[in-house]
Amino acid sequence: MPKDSPGFTLGKKYDKMALAHSATHECIFEDCRLPRDAFLGKEGKGFSQHLAALQTGRISIGACSVGLAQACFEAALKYARERVQFGKPIYSYQGVSFKLADMAMHIELGRTMVLKAAWLKDNNLPHALEASYAKLYASEMCERCASDAVQIHGGYGLMNEYPVSRYYKQCKALQIVEGTSEIQRIVISRNLG
Ligand SMILES: Cc1cc2nc3c(=O)[nH]c(=O)nc-3n(C[C@H](O)[C@H](O)[C@H](O)COP(=O)(O)OP(=O)(O)OC[C@H]3O[C@@H](n4cnc5c(N)ncnc54)[C@H](O)[C@@H]3O)c2cc1C
Repeated sequence: MPKDSPGFTLGKKYDKMALAHSATHECIFEDCRLPRDAFLGKEGKGFSQHLAALQTGRISIGACSVGLAQACFEAALKYARERVQFGKPIYSYQGVSFKLADMAMHIELGRTMVLKAAWLKDNNLPHALEASYAKLYASEMCERCASDAVQIHGGYGLMNEYPVSRYYKQCKALQIVEGTSEIQRIVISRNLG
């Protein structure tokens, strides 16, 4: 709806731990009326249009999760190759390199799931289940990658000047928007027949 609609005002701006690039305000409606041309989609079809938009959104959040997990992986790999402890780069210790191996494998799987769901959508095939699989798997995988990326940075991982500390905060949002992880499990279990 247009922000200058009569009867609509923006209230308090919320201070968020993630998604700071996108402002979130309290919305106040007082006898608010919208002009006909503000109407989106078809009258009486709001719920099904909303569900269809959510399915697409879940694929998008899956893609965001894969991208953020990839950024976590790249930052952690670079740091692990540079940081020397006990006379060797920490990458030479399996406790570190196995974390990176798992991150790379799970990112590959998450990316494949997102691409499959997107392919089904692009080809007008049913994709509710695959969109939920992709969103749930990729967002939870992203949180594990972000946690491991901070862990690999050790104490520096807690410093705001290192991007992994920001990634760790952002990844939480991906498990909440477009349907929480719990709601994805409800969607999946209902689609199991
Ligand atoms: C800045 C911001 C932007 C957002 N943008 C979008 C967006 O663009 N699109 C979008 O779809 N969402 C978006 N969201 C998420 C959305 O607004 C809700 O926060 C989200 O759907 C969860 O609803 P809720 O906050 O009311 O939590 P609640 O429904 O109160 O849930 C609280 C907890 O209970 C769990 N829960 C609730 N019901 C059940 C159940 N039946 N079974 C098991 N567990 C349950 C939830 O999973 C969660 O863990 C955004 C949120 C924020 C903060």
